[in-house]
Amino acid sequence: MQVKNIAILGSTGSIGTQALEVIGKNPDRFSVSVLTAQSNADLLVEQALTFKPQQVVIGDERKYQWVKTALAHTGINVLSGEAALSEVVCGDKIDVVLTALVGFSGLRPTLAAIQAGKDIALANKETLVVAGELVTKLARQHNVNILPVDSEHSAIFQCLQGEEGNAVEKIYLTASGGPFRGKKTEYLSSVTKAEALKHPNWSMGAKITIDSATLMNKGLEVIEAKWLFGLDISQIDVIIHPQSIIHSIVQFEDGSMKAQMGLPDMKLPIQYALNYPLRLKNHFERFNFLNYPQLTFEAPDKATFRNLALAFDALAQAGNMPCVINAANEVVVAEFLKGSIGFLEMSSVIEECMTRVSYINSPTLDDYLMTDMETRNIAGQLVTKY
Ligand code: NDP
Ligand code: MG
Repeated sequence: MQVKNIAILGSTGSIGTQALEVIGKNPDRFSVSVLTAQSNADLLVEQALTFKPQQVVIGDERKYQWVKTALAHTGINVLSGEAALSEVVCGDKIDVVLTALVGFSGLRPTLAAIQAGKDIALANKETLVVAGELVTKLARQHNVNILPVDSEHSAIFQCLQGEEGNAVEKIYLTASGGPFRGKKTEYLSSVTKAEALKHPNWSMGAKITIDSATLMNKGLEVIEAKWLFGLDISQIDVIIHPQSIIHSIVQFEDGSMKAQMGLPDMKLPIQYALNYPLRLKNHFERFNFLNYPQLTFEAPDKATFRNLALAFDALAQAGNMPCVINAANEVVVAEFLKGSIGFLEMSSVIEECMTRVSYINSPTLDDYLMTDMETRNIAGQLVTKY
């Protein structure tokens, strides 16, 4: 059996560390070529000593010397800085690049990996939100697979196996509803960062946890699904399912529906993407029906959780508008985490950015980079008003 060489961008994060758990349990199937972190040098070094990659990247250049010294005599090549990410993904030996870094930072390395012909295990949904058309077109040109890691998209992808030639009528992305499900605007006006960071079902990085609380995560996933599965906006629906057992659903043109189910555990979609198309035996906890006598469903409250409506609106407007909401959202989430703005103000800033940033109908890569910068500037100014 061939061993797959994996490059993990963002190995010190929630997805990155879970991917290393999967890889560590399957040394006959996977080896690690590249590990990267932004600032967590201690964990990066520890991971490098365990998994012995050929290269590591520490984003924060101030920590470069420390990492280099810690890994001296190991033969591991240590690099630093943003541009290094786009370099290391091109290594000859790499079979799959797992993009587990957060936000817009994933775009350039993902494009570089596709150009080098590497399959992408995509966790970094922001890349497809910002430039889905460009990324998916490039992947087709280079005959590269984009294998979803996001649990909803992995579910849809799994449901579509063996269905070539069968038209999809609709997909339903499920959402837990986050910690504030059922709450109204008045309540949300005073919620704290600590409350927003308490996700009921999943343990994830801070940015996606806030996105889950505002439902922006689901909005970003709607856009991600459009590009991954080539769907029209009218074919994508969101349904709140608080137990997070049904990970998403495909409805075919005969009305038949297929769903993928299981306990919420990101290791499963990670391992499915890394070992695609074969499933791997594991000993993760199994679902027990009797522990879940009721699986329930509700409509999302788009009037209260405005980010979801804004994301649908951005997708309908197309062009650079999804890039605008992504950049504005990254700014407001960072500010909310610093305590500078309130929960509801996040949507207000995003909405205003959508009206103020110059609209571009068919953006190039440079246009996306400009849009990202312009939006961050505008959002940064708007935040100071609150
Ligand atoms: P984390 O914040 O836990 O980890 C992010 C990783 O990326 C860390 O290794 C971090 O390094 C690194 N990083 C952060 N900023 C930068 C940057 N500017 N440049 C380069 N590297 C950077 O995030 P998650 O693992 O939760 O999420 C990663 C991606 O996966 C996101 O796009 C998220 O939406 C998506 N995703 C996550 C899920 C989850 O369960 N966590 C589920 C579905 C999707 P350092 O540790 O040094 O800061
Ligand atoms: Mg998800």
